[in-house]
Amino acid sequence: LKERIRPEGYPSELASLAGTFNEMLDRLQESFERISRFSADIAHDLRTPVNNIRGEAEVALARARTSGEYRDVIESCLEEAVRLSDLIGDLLFLARAESPLSYLRRERVDVGELLDQVREYYEASAVDGEVSLTAAVASEPVVAELDRTLLQRAVGNLVANALAHTPPGGTVVLSANADVSTVHIEVSDTGIGIPAEALPRVFDRFFRVDSARSHGSGGTGLGLAIVKSIAQLHGGNVEIVSPPGHGTQVTLQMPVLPARQPTM
Ligand code: ADP
Repeated sequence: LKERIRPEGYPSELASLAGTFNEMLDRLQESFERISRFSADIAHDLRTPVNNIRGEAEVALARARTSGEYRDVIESCLEEAVRLSDLIGDLLFLARAESPLSYLRRERVDVGELLDQVREYYEASAVDGEVSLTAAVASEPVVAELDRTLLQRAVGNLVANALAHTPPGGTVVLSANADVSTVHIEVSDTGIGIPAEALPRVFDRFFRVDSARSHGSGGTGLGLAIVKSIAQLHGGNVEIVSPPGHGTQVTLQMPVLPARQPTM
């Protein structure tokens, strides 16, 4: 949307068409900004009441007197409140990532070590789902200047997806390697895969192939949108392939060093 048509040098009808087109672009840009601000504001305003519901449900459950039917009702309220607060957190994250003020806290990250931490975090749910989860060790340490928290979130989302779509007996492998300029981080699984027609849309917000396909309560459809925005914040990208019958492989590509700022 940043590309505007420069009307100079065109005959007058074309110049006026270009003018109208530019006006349309401005309006569209404004609408996008308004929608983004609106979703940030609404998510922010919803956060407090949802957290209150969550807190009250937790207190009610902790009471010894709460029993039987009441306990079931309160437990499902709590479950829904947790889902809502996750959704609100994801929306706020995306809205903030879009803001021109968003910035990264870059530091030297040993990517192999980080992958191992993520593996450890998801170990219990892999065991639950009878899936083997491993982090392949690279022969050389893979080190890059990245935002550690955001990278953990991106890789975590990918591992959660892989585990949710891989039946018992399958495997999920995390690996990383780097060349001079780019670090490649891959999460691959032997799961049910993604239909070819759905692949181009999986990074869209709220897009879900079919909620019945994953085990567990399922996500919000924002997981891969967040992965993509984290890759792009770093000046990188993310690719996904899912050849029929061969599971899914997602690769994050990030520059090893931040792009140099233009000098003023
Ligand atoms: P969700 O919150 O539903 O996981 P995502 O944005 O993370 O949303 O993923 C979008 C959709 O892509 C999911 O609903 C799922 O159907 C599909 N998907 C993502 N990762 C995988 C995978 N590793 N294997 C199969 N399907 C996947």
